[in-house]
Amino acid sequence: MRVFPGGRVRDGMSGIDDHGGNPCLACGACCMSFRVSFYWAEAEARGLPAALTEQLGPFHACMAGTNSRQPRCAALHGAVGGPVACSVYLQRPEPCREVQPGDDKCIRARSRHGLAALKTPV
Ligand code: SF4
Ligand code: SF4
Repeated sequence: MRVFPGGRVRDGMSGIDDHGGNPCLACGACCMSFRVSFYWAEAEARGLPAALTEQLGPFHACMAGTNSRQPRCAALHGAVGGPVACSVYLQRPEPCREVQPGDDKCIRARSRHGLAALKTPV
C-alpha cells in the first residue's frame, strides 16, 4: 500500500479519486490479501516494531496478521475501502514498497475485496 500516515499524498501518484489523488487512502486491500513476508533482518534494519512482525522460520518473518487465510496486517488502521493508513509507513518492508496502484497485485487484492480495478494504472 502506498499510504502516508495522516493522509499525505505519495509522490508520483496521478489523480484518480477524491483522496488527495491517492487511491490507497480509500482502499487498503493489498494489506488484507497477501502474506507480507521478508528476510527477517529487514525488520530490524528498517526499525519495524517487533510486536508487528511474526517469525516464519530461521530466515523469514512477516507482518503480523498476514500469515493467515484471511490476512490483515496489524499495522493497518481502518477498514477496507477506507479511510485507511499504514501505521509504519516509513518502516514498511519491501513487499509493501513493490505494490503499485493499478498493478497486477493491486488488481487481485481489490478484486478479493469487491473493489473495482483502478481505471488509471500508474
Ligand atoms: S490494493 Fe492497490 S489501491 Fe489498494 S492500497 Fe494496495 S496498492 Fe493501493
Ligand atoms: S506494513 Fe503497512 S503497507 Fe505493509 S501491509 Fe502492513 S499496513 Fe500495508
